[in-house]
Amino acid sequence: MVPPPSTIGEITAARDLREPILESDAAVATHELEVVIIGAGPAGLCAGMYAGRSMLKNVVLEQGLPGGELLNTEVIEDYIGFEHVLGYDLAEKFNAHAIKFAADVRTYHRVETVRRIADGTFETVMENGDIFASPAVIVTAGGTPIKLEVPGEIEYAGKGVSYCAICDGAFFKQHTIMVVGGGDAACEEADFLTRYAAKVYLVHRRDAFRASKIVQQRVFKNPKIEVIWDTVVDEIGGADGLMTHAKIRNLKSGERRDLQATGLFIFVGFRPNTGMIDGHVEHDANGYLITDANMETSMRGLFAAGDVRAQLTRQVTTAVGDATTAAIAVEKYLTARKNGAPAPLPQPMLTARGTT
Ligand code: NDP
Repeated sequence: MVPPPSTIGEITAARDLREPILESDAAVATHELEVVIIGAGPAGLCAGMYAGRSMLKNVVLEQGLPGGELLNTEVIEDYIGFEHVLGYDLAEKFNAHAIKFAADVRTYHRVETVRRIADGTFETVMENGDIFASPAVIVTAGGTPIKLEVPGEIEYAGKGVSYCAICDGAFFKQHTIMVVGGGDAACEEADFLTRYAAKVYLVHRRDAFRASKIVQQRVFKNPKIEVIWDTVVDEIGGADGLMTHAKIRNLKSGERRDLQATGLFIFVGFRPNTGMIDGHVEHDANGYLITDANMETSMRGLFAAGDVRAQLTRQVTTAVGDATTAAIAVEKYLTARKNGAPAPLPQPMLTARGTT
């Protein structure tokens, strides 16, 4: 069972009782910092810990509770050193560790806009109009899996419904499960999930996949996958708190039926949370921020780490790796600025195919 959110709340409560940085009066306040970190998922908390250890005047601004996607993940088994840990528990550990080393984590602080001003520094504008001014910003705002928005999806999240095959696939050994979607992610992950599941229904709303042909071929050749075309999920149902079936509907015939499955993996797209950035920053075709090897974006002084960044995979391990690099790069960037030296130039990313 997932502990109630108050577990994280208890950790943050003591901190939130301190005199808040944001004033409650109507007047807009400006706060001078060295680095502002947006988001308190694994990447944001790790960046905050490193910023704190470097004695940088920092703030980690989180619109909800700290933990990010960890709070949507029941159990994690692929974070090295933790064979089996609840998402909430790992979030608590990350948060406590970051705070211990002077990360200034501010919960329920929603960022409205980040803008670069004429002198090359940044203003991070909060929902209430207050401003955090800093020469460097690390965006670790993650991304949001697009939801089906059907009844039962929230109720059975972590209890059958998942948005991450690598994270949760192993919980479905010899089960019959479903995957929804028709893009590369749905087809690749349906194939991946057959390592564990006895059977995978791949439910797609049209009669053709948009996934690349080679990925489609893997699906069609896999005897454990049964494709259900022209079909949508209307509702997810269960018993005793666990998913047992989904109500599906054929869009052409109108036929409705219950599909028995203990898991439902939803891959209908993912949206990086970059909307707060004012101004153009290079991104890939799906909106993920492109960085150099120091995690710096095309906007000088604006760094990105974790799920918001364009990269091969999105794991807790990669998020904290990115964040470590970003925080150390920020420290060097700020030192160079203070010394009047030109800040280190963006570092090209070396890849097997050359530089990016
Ligand atoms: P996509 O946007 O490519 O595909 C989303 C799929 O979900 C589509 O088939 C779409 O159907 C379906 N869909 C969308 N909304 C709903 C809904 N409400 N109900 C049911 N089905 C829905 O997203 P992906 O996450 O698959 O991929 C994102 C990008 O990442 C793509 O560019 C993809 O190529 C890339 N990617 C590449 C990989 C690789 O190369 N190895 C691996 C994973 C992703 P419809 O087709 O009818 O619109």
